Amino acid sequence: MIDNTQTETELERQAPKETERFDVAIIGAGPAGMSAALGAARANLNVLLIEKALPGGETSTACKISNYIGFPKGILGEDLGKRMEDQLNDYPTITHVCESVTDILNISDKEKIIKTSLDSEYKCQAIIFALGLEPKRLDTNFERQFLGRGVSYYARGDVEFHHEEDVMVIGGGNCACYAADYLSNFVNKVYMVHSKDHLRAVKSIKQSVETNPKIDIFWDSKVSEVFGIDRVEKAKVENTVNSQHTWLDVKGIFVYVGRIPPEDIISVEIDTDEDGFIITDEFMRTNIPGIYAAGDIRSKQVRQIATAVSDGMIASINVERDFFR
Ligand SMILES: Cc1cc2nc3c(=O)[nH]c(=O)nc-3n(C[C@H](O)[C@H](O)[C@H](O)COP(=O)(O)OP(=O)(O)OC[C@H]3O[C@@H](n4cnc5c(N)ncnc54)[C@H](O)[C@@H]3O)c2cc1C
Repeated sequence: MIDNTQTETELERQAPKETERFDVAIIGAGPAGMSAALGAARANLNVLLIEKALPGGETSTACKISNYIGFPKGILGEDLGKRMEDQLNDYPTITHVCESVTDILNISDKEKIIKTSLDSEYKCQAIIFALGLEPKRLDTNFERQFLGRGVSYYARGDVEFHHEEDVMVIGGGNCACYAADYLSNFVNKVYMVHSKDHLRAVKSIKQSVETNPKIDIFWDSKVSEVFGIDRVEKAKVENTVNSQHTWLDVKGIFVYVGRIPPEDIISVEIDTDEDGFIITDEFMRTNIPGIYAAGDIRSKQVRQIATAVSDGMIASINVERDFFR
């Protein structure tokens, strides 16, 4: 795996030759992708693992993870991601590249070509999509105006800019609750602004948010205006039932209104559901022979680390069964 301590020579040695053909290419090194890589490597397949950012995926942006079996006291998302990455280091048949996949050519059932943002082309027999999701935007003017200057989609990454300040979280689902709870450990006050009159989160995190003295919740509300010269300075919260409004002196606004599948990277004709999630069978096969999907990107009921890890392992087992037996 690539890390900052490696020398240039080590990185060069790891860099795949562009003509090299892989048994399976896995796109995304979150829990689904890393689990798939482990399964494929254990089946002696020659694996290409492509990740556009750091390995770990959304697990690394999560705060404390308490629902993943094997860690009775919970584990920081970042630490869990690192442990998964470390486990792959024992398998020399996994080649990791840090690139963003931009296109896929389905040449035949047994030949695919992957194109990346660095103009690389990789040939492989099968592909596992483990791309995860992206934060959903509210599509407001204030997001466009203040993104990176107070508006953020990643509490864990951007909390450092707001120590002891007042901040806002927009949303009321699991991720919004996790984010508010996490932020409350570092900031002065968290205001949650939620469009409904109840939180849509699992009981434990919901209770923790509702009883946290550092979190105030504005129900049935939306942010209608944000003011700031260079950065966010205050936000206007409007109650959609009684039209009353309040200006809050917040320096950070964290938007957690859902996560959606990436829209335009997949030009192959892959079947998705009405919300854009990839449809697979129970073997993680998509409608295209040789293309599998695993993790949050799949059309499914529960999106968690445990289900992503399960999907990844199932996908790799079936790649091996379908193509290499
Ligand atoms: C704030 C937050 C808190 C959470 N807390 C919990 C929790 O406590 N417990 C729990 O079980 N789950 C939690 N989750 C959900 C959990 O993180 C996800 O279900 C899980 O990470 C999904 O794994 P994945 O591998 O499918 O996707 P991801 O983890 O999203 O990984 C996908 C990877 O693909 C990469 N990628 C995307 N596009 C490309 C491309 N074009 N080229 C190359 N690479 C690409 C991304 O960079 C990313 O690393 C949380 C999520 C969030 C956002």
